[in-house]
Amino acid sequence: MEEFIQRALGAGGHLAKLVKGYSPRAPQMLIANKVGTALEEGRHLLAEAGTGTGKSLGYLIPAARWAVENKKTVIVCTHTIPLMTQIVNVELPRVQQILKMERQNLRYQLVKGKSHYVCYTKLENLWQEALRSVSEEAKIVQKIFKAVTRENVADRTGLGFDVEDSLWHKISAGSCPAVTKPDSCLLEDLKEKMYKSHIIVTNHAYFFSDLVMRRKTGNGSLPDYDAVIFDEAHEMEDVCCQIFEKTVDVNRFEALFEHLFRRDAFRELDNRTQLMLTQLRQDFQRKLDQVYAKVGKGMENDAYRLLDEKIDVSDVCSTLTQFIDKLKALNVRGVSDILDKLFEGNDDLDFIGSNSKRSWAYWATVHGRNNVTLHAAPLFPKVILASSLFNKVPVILASATMSSGGNFSFFAGRVGVKDYDTVVVDSPFDYANKTMLIVPDDAPDPNSPEFNRYTAEKLEEITMYTGGRMLVLFTSFDSMNQVARRFHPYCSERGYHLLVQYPGCNREELIQQLKEEPRTIVFGSSSFWTGVDVAGDALTTVVIPRLPFPHPDEPLIKAQVELLEKANRSSFFDYMFPKMIFKLKQGFGRLNRSIHCQGAVIILDNRLRTKRYKGLIIRSLPKCKYSSKVSDLVHILPV
Ligand code: SF4
Repeated sequence: MEEFIQRALGAGGHLAKLVKGYSPRAPQMLIANKVGTALEEGRHLLAEAGTGTGKSLGYLIPAARWAVENKKTVIVCTHTIPLMTQIVNVELPRVQQILKMERQNLRYQLVKGKSHYVCYTKLENLWQEALRSVSEEAKIVQKIFKAVTRENVADRTGLGFDVEDSLWHKISAGSCPAVTKPDSCLLEDLKEKMYKSHIIVTNHAYFFSDLVMRRKTGNGSLPDYDAVIFDEAHEMEDVCCQIFEKTVDVNRFEALFEHLFRRDAFRELDNRTQLMLTQLRQDFQRKLDQVYAKVGKGMENDAYRLLDEKIDVSDVCSTLTQFIDKLKALNVRGVSDILDKLFEGNDDLDFIGSNSKRSWAYWATVHGRNNVTLHAAPLFPKVILASSLFNKVPVILASATMSSGGNFSFFAGRVGVKDYDTVVVDSPFDYANKTMLIVPDDAPDPNSPEFNRYTAEKLEEITMYTGGRMLVLFTSFDSMNQVARRFHPYCSERGYHLLVQYPGCNREELIQQLKEEPRTIVFGSSSFWTGVDVAGDALTTVVIPRLPFPHPDEPLIKAQVELLEKANRSSFFDYMFPKMIFKLKQGFGRLNRSIHCQGAVIILDNRLRTKRYKGLIIRSLPKCKYSSKVSDLVHILPV
């Protein structure tokens, strides 16, 4: 493997022949060698690589070689779409060319959730109707049909033009009910390509959904795999817990019963049987309502409470079991999909009611008029991942932020990986000369009422130096909107474009504007802390008003804290603090995306000056210039 990596990435090697001006990068070759060894020896590897090291090509090259030579399947998972796109559109084609130079043929395939793909049957039906119409929608349907039939496009992004959600819903394969698929089915096509591939690229969520299915049924939608590579691995813990979360509310069963009772097969049952099933349904719903009323008693709207107690759902579950058994005994055709879902719902209800797993959190939420939802989610994925992933195949975990000062134990402990190798390669960027960390010395306590006003005023001062080109990362939508309201008049008077994230907005569109228009300031929360990639002078300043500690009032966080405190451990140093550091490093990393980047990260939170742990925070960030005055921006911003 080492010799191959030298031939592929070394001076005058294959990549040098493909990319003009290429020069080998020692960190990338180190990652490639480590990944190659890990795969060959069947070991886990944790690879932390700073921005600009070329880590994805570093793992793709040995993974592709190993898979092709040994007829193996490797799954590569990313968290963000930009990285996934980069891997599929830029890096894998290059890796394919490199292997071709070695007379090897690499096959790879991108796989997303079903709802991203076109259902050919639905599209063809709509296209037939569109032939008789002159509406705008009909024109778009014809355009989509042409792309699918003539250019072999199968998914929404591949179309290359926007399709309204309402239309997409009509043609998406998301809710495919078919058990046997026709030859024209694009999902079948995709499946065939996937099974022939050496490398399958997907996202964390799809991978974990597949894992849920494998644990339940023994089979997943992905083919069996021989190794997994997680890029952006710092995100896998949260994604895994989200995917494994179970929720049960009234609507889940209501919707299934409605579907079932409308099916022809059900209507064809004789009246007496229909009546018997209707009564069982009503009985079930009445009992479930009683459970919800008991759980939700005393809870206010939009509130949640952790469930310490068991909930007695045995009567509810046995009524639904009776319903399912009766229907099965009747051999009603064409309803097995609904029966499976009812069974699954019953199973989830039973699981939540039992409140029996110490490593899970159980809670109830109330929305609207006494609308109770029951939830259960793992507090950490280590138990699940140790048995279902790490004990089965070698796993490569790659990220720019996984360790704390080179120590991976916090991360490894949370995800459940044991007995692993590590490699840490620093970013080649010149942080010492091109980056400044500014922590203003006049900031009030971030929890004080005047903090949002202070933030807005400080942003005005910062904007005078930067002239835009700024990303402000908030920890809550609420404070972001409050600061935006105060800051907005300043921006509109002076011709700055203030773009504020809103739920469901297209992040890439906002970022594109930042790239194209210098007088732009983007306010973002949640997803903007990772995956925003703006290289060069388009982004010169990142402002972080508050240190990104996890929100202690979110159910899962609260349950984590309680669990640690019950075990006499520090919830702050064993959980909140390391979580905050990982996120802060991600936010900090938004500034430096290429060797041409130069600018400042400004953190307004005065805990970075007043708390004893301030040194720990500073040491976890790249070594760079430091100042307590915003006016020092003149010494670092590019001219
Ligand atoms: S099998 Fe499902 S996705 Fe495929 S064409 Fe038929 S309905 Fe559409």
